[in-house]
Amino acid sequence: MSNVIENICILGATGSIGTNTLDVIKRHPDKYQVFALTAHRNLEQLKLQCIEFQPRYAVLPDAELAQELESFIQYKGLQVEVLHGVHSLDFVASHDEVDTVMAAIVGAAGLLPTLAAAQAGKRVLLANKEALVMSGAIFMDAVNKHGATLLPIDSEHNAIFQCLPEHFVEQGIENCGIHNIVLTGSGGPFLKKDLADFAAITPDEACAHPNWDMGRKISVDSATMMNKGLELIEACWLFDVKPEQIEVVLHPQSIIHSMVRYNDGSVLAQMGNPDMRTPIAHALAFPERISAGVAPLDFMEISKLTFDRPSKERYPCLALASEAMKQGGNSPARLNAANEVAVQSFLDEKIGFTQIAEVIQHTLTSTEYAEALTLDSVLSADKEARRSAQDFVAQLTNHSS
Ligand code: NAD
Ligand code: MG
Repeated sequence: MSNVIENICILGATGSIGTNTLDVIKRHPDKYQVFALTAHRNLEQLKLQCIEFQPRYAVLPDAELAQELESFIQYKGLQVEVLHGVHSLDFVASHDEVDTVMAAIVGAAGLLPTLAAAQAGKRVLLANKEALVMSGAIFMDAVNKHGATLLPIDSEHNAIFQCLPEHFVEQGIENCGIHNIVLTGSGGPFLKKDLADFAAITPDEACAHPNWDMGRKISVDSATMMNKGLELIEACWLFDVKPEQIEVVLHPQSIIHSMVRYNDGSVLAQMGNPDMRTPIAHALAFPERISAGVAPLDFMEISKLTFDRPSKERYPCLALASEAMKQGGNSPARLNAANEVAVQSFLDEKIGFTQIAEVIQHTLTSTEYAEALTLDSVLSADKEARRSAQDFVAQLTNHSS
């Protein structure tokens, strides 16, 4: 593979993962070229990316924005074809000439194109954890049935993948002498904040993560630790384990990105500076290793690594996610939908920080559990949970005004 230039499609190119992916790609013009870029609202950024990377396709769901991009492309004399509509996302993600798809759209909006990439047997670099949380079994079946290669971008899952033996997929974790998986999390910006002050937390405070620079939705998820909850579900599907086989450990420095504990007492950890270019470069080049532009880890500078237990009072979302996974069926999809609505409502200053967990809990109890064996049933559970969460947010908003 090393002599052939790979065609890359980046879903969510203008986001934090998307721009980090382009940063790694441009360091290796001999290995990768950009085939398609997709964005949602950030037209200005997409214009700059079209000039710099000259993809074959640029995709925007909105027709008007696409028209504006089209005029710009013509004015600049670029050879980029502009597409619009959600089906165009599926089209580029499954295009014959694409080798690798970076799935970096945030939230449920990424599910269908990521699934399209899996169904087309692509090498799928999965950042969009919500897609897997929603559709778990359906997504993994598509990967297996169509011979897709799934590589985790989430730093924890990428770390676990690096610490697992090569044949874990064929043999199963239990036959590889593994005791459990240790999923680390920083605890976010409110690790030490007085619980009495949680209700007054602002969106900007929640988005100011101490170690990682990320999009706003995942930043809020990190502050509530719903991110760790979603990651627990993500790990269950990626590595075929149960929630009981995963131990969540607080590690505020974000240097160890997760670990695998073996039966002989060995614990393997993957370490590095908190920079998403490391897992992105790992998955892009796997099984080779390429440079990512990340500074070498300086142990003298870190000086110490600490660990703690996550508190249930501080992080109620973590327990909600773990419960949803244990319940199975459509519960993770309903949890995810409620969380997306709650986080957006918090970012829009309609509800307070502590009400995020309330909205999720309320949605899970007021919507119906089902087995969710088909994509349609997952999508309808998502829709119903969103509606229920929106209604509850409206009630909370009316109460407080
Ligand atoms: P972001 O908000 O910075 O970027 C999101 C991207 O998705 C943008 O390009 C946006 O245009 C696109 N998008 C948003 N809504 C869309 C829609 N409805 N239709 C089509 N495109 C849409 O988010 P991010 O931080 O880059 O995160 C992307 C994904 O990666 C998330 O699922 C997140 O959980 C995961 N992830 C991110 C990080 C990180 O460090 N940022 C780490 C691990 C996992
Ligand atoms: Mg992560």
